[in-house]
Amino acid sequence: RAKELGRNNYQFFSEDMNHSILEHLALEKELKEAIQREQFTLMFQPKISLFDYHITGVETLIRWQHPDKGLIPPDSFIPVAEETGQILEIGDWVLEQSCRQISSLIRDGVLSASTKVAVNLSAKQFTDPDLADRIRNVIDISQIPPQCLELEITESTLMDDVETAIHIMQEVKKTGVSIAIDDFGTGYSSLAYIKRFPIDVLKVDRSFVMDIPQDQNDMAITAAVIAMAHKLSLEVVAEGVETEEQLHFLRRNNCDEGQGYLFSRPLSLGQLHQFLRENEHKRQANNYQI
Ligand code: C2E
Ligand code: MG
Ligand code: MG
Ligand code: MG
Repeated sequence: RAKELGRNNYQFFSEDMNHSILEHLALEKELKEAIQREQFTLMFQPKISLFDYHITGVETLIRWQHPDKGLIPPDSFIPVAEETGQILEIGDWVLEQSCRQISSLIRDGVLSASTKVAVNLSAKQFTDPDLADRIRNVIDISQIPPQCLELEITESTLMDDVETAIHIMQEVKKTGVSIAIDDFGTGYSSLAYIKRFPIDVLKVDRSFVMDIPQDQNDMAITAAVIAMAHKLSLEVVAEGVETEEQLHFLRRNNCDEGQGYLFSRPLSLGQLHQFLRENEHKRQANNYQI
């Protein structure tokens, strides 16, 4: 009986595997078409200064406009694109479109010339030896000032191979762009490494912000990360700011910038235009609760 059960389990397991491999292959094929047909679109989420509420930057977030399945979020396809290597082509598209679209907003005077475009890079892109050249190329094509471009890299990506990461970061920094560590606090980075990375910004992961003000530990960690970052001359951005209480806590602790649904969800380009107009009105009318 045990044998039978074992065999059934085995069969079940292997069918399951086949299923996921098939799904994986189907997704890879669909992604290939998506790349050829440029079925991707960008959403834009503003970053806000917690000192005077001006818009300091805009992060671009990819979506896949699937012809049948609708809008697919990045977590559902980026991991596969990483495994297949397709992320390099998708990443090039994201970089170029992000710079083109934001630099046109800057040229039209809709965004100030000091606004940053923040682009997410995945691990595979970050170990690409041509990364610095790709970035130089995109700066040329889009005519964006390099200091307006910021690359977001998750902490875990950097920790895979620290020496290589530092080397690539140094190459990338030579292009004049800045580097932010995304989802800070979720990886295993040792503080000893943080000071060796040539980075400019720490983004405190949403998981620490989420339970403020209920969770004393999260508040302690967030306050400590902000203080540490400032001592290292880094800017701090809090992710996932959803409530006024969180905003007040972050302001009291001198967090530089915030991002989250309290200010704005990720927006289409048209919605971003609208948001920028309204934000300017609000700021002029001093309408934000401080
Ligand atoms: P991320 O870079 O940490 O981006 C923040 C995610 O949190 C976004 O999800 C955003 O929509 C969401 N978010 C922002 N504010 C709030 C909030 O107040 N509350 C909550 N609950 N969520 C908030 P999204 O767009 O689904 O992106 C997920 C992840 O996918 C990103 O995390 C990033 O790691 C990755 N990603 C997005 N676009 C790209 C891309 O172009 N290239 C690569 N390689 N990865 C990307
Ligand atoms: Mg990000
Ligand atoms: Mg993040
Ligand atoms: Mg995140």
